[in-house]
Amino acid sequence: MSEDHEVRRGLLERLDRGPVICAEGYLFELERRGYLQAGGYVPEVVLDHPEKVRELHREFVHAGSDVVEAFTYYAHREKLRLVGKEALLESINRQALALAREVALESGTLCAGNVCNTNIYVGEQTEAEVRAMFEEQVGWAVDAEVDFVIGETFSWLGEAIVATEVIKDAGLPAVVTLVPHRDPATREGVQPAEACKALEQAGADVVGLNCSRGPATMLPLLEAIRSAVSTHVAALPVPYRTHASEPSFQSLHDPQVAHLPEGRSFPTGLDPFTCTRYEIAEFAEAARALGVDYLGVCCGAAPHHIRSMAEALGRTPPASRYSADMSKHAYFGTDHAARPEYRDYAREL
Ligand SMILES: [Zn+2]
Repeated sequence: MSEDHEVRRGLLERLDRGPVICAEGYLFELERRGYLQAGGYVPEVVLDHPEKVRELHREFVHAGSDVVEAFTYYAHREKLRLVGKEALLESINRQALALAREVALESGTLCAGNVCNTNIYVGEQTEAEVRAMFEEQVGWAVDAEVDFVIGETFSWLGEAIVATEVIKDAGLPAVVTLVPHRDPATREGVQPAEACKALEQAGADVVGLNCSRGPATMLPLLEAIRSAVSTHVAALPVPYRTHASEPSFQSLHDPQVAHLPEGRSFPTGLDPFTCTRYEIAEFAEAARALGVDYLGVCCGAAPHHIRSMAEALGRTPPASRYSADMSKHAYFGTDHAARPEYRDYAREL
């Protein structure tokens, strides 16, 4: 990261030199910290507590993220209308972009704008309205001089293509990712690899998958995407232990907890399914080996996951200064300075 600090390279130049890491998951992390409401899920926190968003951006960069993604997820006209906050649309977007840009500039990282699923797209008849929603958000991102724009969590290929077109029309690199649900095909029924090929043809610079699936159930989808496209491939799983019969984090079921709201672990009871940092490192290595070069972690990510991902890619971000070193542990340590009477007692712990 330090070499990039001196010469600030763009996204595509960085990808030509090696993998790029993008930390995500702002909704979940700020919800856990008590500054955002689950369900409503709009990033009003950028106005109410900008210092908390700035701090989380800095923590992710400290942990190894190459990108500061503006926290405009769900800050679109439809979602704000649903929660009765449409009047805040422009101010949330502009503030989120300003915070991201501030941290990107101070750290030499890239600043990304962000658009996502509009929740109104149901086919061609809704394209014009969806396009207008993307155009206003991408317009604010252009004003904020972002380095590129992320379009993410699309269930519909058609909607993802509109996002790609709007970002490319604005003259910016586009990272466009689809969300793989229980059935990983798009809602039109297009398999991820074929859908990513269509996004590449629409002009996306990076295509792939984000959210919903954890490492174990996202990884098997990546090889087909890598072979189907010639451009860069993205993979940003959620850090949860999804598996063959419950492949998405919405479908995870925790039999040990009797009282979950509406009987679901998603989104506030997922803690026992959280991946360790080591599982994230394994995912990063495996995805990298397949040729995935835009890597990150989505909803549920915390800085230790990002550091682990960065280290798995051979980096030493500033947070690596504090990476675990158990040799000095009083009981489990191997260092000769650890007292033998205590090391011998380790088996009793
Ligand atoms: Zn997510």
